[in-house]
Amino acid sequence: MHKKVFEYIDSRKGELIEFTKELVSIPTVNPPGENYSKILKILEQRCKRLRLVTKRIVVPKSVLKRYKIDSREKRICLLAKWNVGSNRTVHINGHYDVVPAGGDWHTDPFRPVVKNGRIYGRGTEDMKGNIACYLMAVSALRRYNLEPGCNLEFSFTPDEEIGGETGFGYLVKNKIINSDYGIGEGYAGRFLSYGNKGVLWFKIEVKGKSAHASKPYKGINSFEKLVAVTQELMNLNKKISKRRTVYMTRDKRDRFSTMVLGGRLWGGGETNIVPDVSGFTIDRRFLPEENITTVKRELYECVNKARKRMKDLKVKIKTIVEQDCAVCNFRNKLSNSFSKAINQALVKKAKFAIMAGATDMRFLMEKGIPCIGYSAEGGGRCHADNEYIWVKSLLDTAKIFAYVFANLKG
Ligand SMILES: [Zn+2]
Repeated sequence: MHKKVFEYIDSRKGELIEFTKELVSIPTVNPPGENYSKILKILEQRCKRLRLVTKRIVVPKSVLKRYKIDSREKRICLLAKWNVGSNRTVHINGHYDVVPAGGDWHTDPFRPVVKNGRIYGRGTEDMKGNIACYLMAVSALRRYNLEPGCNLEFSFTPDEEIGGETGFGYLVKNKIINSDYGIGEGYAGRFLSYGNKGVLWFKIEVKGKSAHASKPYKGINSFEKLVAVTQELMNLNKKISKRRTVYMTRDKRDRFSTMVLGGRLWGGGETNIVPDVSGFTIDRRFLPEENITTVKRELYECVNKARKRMKDLKVKIKTIVEQDCAVCNFRNKLSNSFSKAINQALVKKAKFAIMAGATDMRFLMEKGIPCIGYSAEGGGRCHADNEYIWVKSLLDTAKIFAYVFANLKG
């Protein structure tokens, strides 16, 4: 049966490309979160055409306020269901927002083009191409009157790129979604993801006192003090970079705990002025074996050590993003279906690994729901420039989803 389905998907290559391009050409850039209503309309129409039952869920203003989101653009989640009367439901999520198109593009990021077997454009890989794959898989099942093995429930959600609390997180935390399995973005090719490292972002700022550089004794140099704090953090970095997880990652180098200092740096202003404020950010990725509270404490302790060394140090540290690790057991029917699907579509043995960054899947995993992350293979720099997705991989991925939808039995 799946041979026919695979052939059908191959025969719809043009449509898969066109739909991906259509989604990419709507600049749903986040922040600030734009053109959401435009893309919702297109997704809704497509879902209805596939005879999925759709429903819009508006994220309340009070929730937007809590996460300091500008509410001029409404945050709306689209649910699309195919209920086959099974007592099991698999939930499939795609976020429709994209990061801003910074960097140096060879093409217009919102006018997708096909070149050398790839589609270039912002959001091709992350993750509009994948949304197109989900719906192509449904289309293939419809074509051959194949019923999915369990109920399919899709959600298309905003704001993944800024933490997901006002999109998928809202749906899960308010029990609007409560499925038996979850599927979302993740690794590609033969790799399937079943968890992620934790992510913590901090902001550190040191206050001094400005003075003219000709009379530096009248000021307090915030930059010099900041360097002292940084030294403590670099010692910690040395220590944590030796910690290694027992979980598999796609790249071996991702098995270690990491910390990036100074992703954003600010302070000072003029060469001849003693800088009164200096600051930087920290991105800390920790392992499932580490505990989020301890990880935070280690960092705060560095700052405290610096405080002890310099009595007049005025430093503030603030946590700005907090996403815990999530790992689920991957020995279940969902991962089993995916393994078989990879075997059928790619003629490869599937490999399971955890990712270095969090996706919206963590909301389901935190509830103990088994999830698999899988995406079509892309490249370029997905959060910088020249993002692309392989057309061949789009076709393979649609086949893999079609296989899973048809064969996953509750
Ligand atoms: Zn994404």
